[in-house]
Amino acid sequence: MSLNTVIINDITLGRVLLWLGIGFGIYAIAKCYRLLFIRRNVNLQHMTYFVCSNCGWEGHISKFGTYCPKCRSPLPPE
Ligand SMILES: [Zn+2]
Repeated sequence: MSLNTVIINDITLGRVLLWLGIGFGIYAIAKCYRLLFIRRNVNLQHMTYFVCSNCGWEGHISKFGTYCPKCRSPLPPE
């Protein structure tokens, strides 16, 4: 059985393997993108948008942070 073995009509084993490889490549890339996307979502779940009422600093900080990263004033309780 060689790569030129005809399976159905003029579709050869080599062509089937080529398409399987391309399909697997697309699947692997999609899976990587999904992992990155999920990881980003998890990170955002632990971050919260914060605007400091004392110094005006704004940005994403950890939900577990208790101080403004710029002026160190305590965050208001949620
Ligand atoms: Zn501040």
